Amino acid sequence: MDYKDLADLIFPNVKPISYYEEKYPERKLKEGAIVTRIAPSPTGFVHIGGLYQGLVAKKLAKQTEGVFFLRIEDTDQKREVENGVQNILDSLKEFDIEPDEGMETEITEKGDYGPYKQSERKEIYQSYAKYMIEQGKAYPCFCTQEELEEIRNKQETAKVRTGYYGVWARCRNYTVEEMIEKIKAGEKYIIRFKSPGREDRKIKHKDVIKGNVEFPENDQDVVIIKADGLPTYHFAHVVDDHLMRTTHVIRGDEWLSSIPLHLQLFQEAGFKAPKYAHIAPIMKNDNGNKRKLSKRKDPEARVSYYAEQGIPKEAVKEYLLNIANSTFENWRRANQDKSIDEFELKLNKMSVSGALFDMTKLLDVSKIVISKMTAEEVYENAVNWAKKYDEELLGILEQDKEYSLNVLGIERGNKKPRKDISKWSDLKENISYMYNDLFEKDNTPYEYQVIKDKTKINKILNLYIEKYYDKNDDKQTWFDKIKDLSEEMGYAKEVKQFKAEPEKYEAHVGDVSTVLRIALTKRVNTPDMYEIMQVLGTDEIIKRFKKAM
Ligand code: GLU
Repeated sequence: MDYKDLADLIFPNVKPISYYEEKYPERKLKEGAIVTRIAPSPTGFVHIGGLYQGLVAKKLAKQTEGVFFLRIEDTDQKREVENGVQNILDSLKEFDIEPDEGMETEITEKGDYGPYKQSERKEIYQSYAKYMIEQGKAYPCFCTQEELEEIRNKQETAKVRTGYYGVWARCRNYTVEEMIEKIKAGEKYIIRFKSPGREDRKIKHKDVIKGNVEFPENDQDVVIIKADGLPTYHFAHVVDDHLMRTTHVIRGDEWLSSIPLHLQLFQEAGFKAPKYAHIAPIMKNDNGNKRKLSKRKDPEARVSYYAEQGIPKEAVKEYLLNIANSTFENWRRANQDKSIDEFELKLNKMSVSGALFDMTKLLDVSKIVISKMTAEEVYENAVNWAKKYDEELLGILEQDKEYSLNVLGIERGNKKPRKDISKWSDLKENISYMYNDLFEKDNTPYEYQVIKDKTKINKILNLYIEKYYDKNDDKQTWFDKIKDLSEEMGYAKEVKQFKAEPEKYEAHVGDVSTVLRIALTKRVNTPDMYEIMQVLGTDEIIKRFKKAM
């Protein structure tokens, strides 16, 4: 009896691997095209790190006219959650990281290299496991949980490495006859890889991101098929990325230490190994300590957080590219109006240790992204956000769309657009004073600055509406009139006048503007006051000034 008899006994009904090798031929792509994927497990919410990997993977595939696919890794069925696949699909869609191939819904998929859900590929893995057994490169292991624990205890007492390897790998030394006998007697088993490695030898690996790394060879006889007939990650990775013709495995660097095993599995199976690019996790500065963004501690680790806050997807993507390649920032400076699709991402320029995620910086990026939107785009985005998260904002935006577009159009569409909105959840606070009913309800006091005297303030406001305000004035005339008003009040008409002789004046034209601004909005800082007045209109201006008096 030989390995073939053993393999036939274990997997009597699976197809020969030649069937799959033909079914999934080399892809016909142009030279240099990258075929890559993301391979999440449907275990709950999508982590920003997963989105980051997806963004990087998709961009590289696109840049090289390659393929980006989505594979669902659901072989650990204990860890699965309901709607896990749908969550992943929704998150990718929301950020336009849709795959070219792979799952499209929980149950449907597109592409010629599927199934793209591992639990649907059981027979394929078994074919390849059988093939390994036939060649004496895998074997059934009959050790029970208790026996494995006993081995572990002995190893710990002897202070040697734990695991199933070398002399400790009891089942690798059974003869084929003994194995067949045990199986026929009904003993339970799983399938292990028979590692040819030696721990005292080194392997070299050139990672696309991490560069040259050296590890001891793998000598562990890892499990490849579990008791439930499904593969472990290690075996599924090798079979899938071989059959799906992946050229680049882009994945989290928690897998870097598995490289000796994975390269050995590729070698023993006789397949060409893909290139590997191990991405460092996104880190956070936690009071001076650099640590991974944590699902538990950091709300921003959840992809859904960004939608909830109303941070536009363009900003999130742009910021993630910033983290991915430090060259992005310069590129952006030189190409302010280009789409991020035109930036050429370089895998080998990615940070070797973890890049820091900085919320303030993301919000700055977001301010710029929003500043480039038209009033209509801001309106659409804000309404969509408000529909889900803020009824009051929705109400004010929709009660008079034309008016809202005018409000949102203030300091927009010019060379130096306003940059005061970083997320839709800030918008209400930013524009509420432009809505009369909200302004009337606002009980915050008027906090005048340099000119504080009530009589003087009233005089300024009175003079302004009686003598200086004319809705038809252009901006220059409008401002000249505020200067004239300042002069009439005995203040410096120009700031430089004031600076030259500060002892001569009580205040200057800027301080008068501030009085007008505060009476009009109750705020010290607003976008351009001329535009605000244009949008509010004469009646409202007069009403507000009277109220202030
Ligand atoms: N399912 C694995 C994970 O989520 C995939 C790793 C890989 O990309 O190969 O970590």
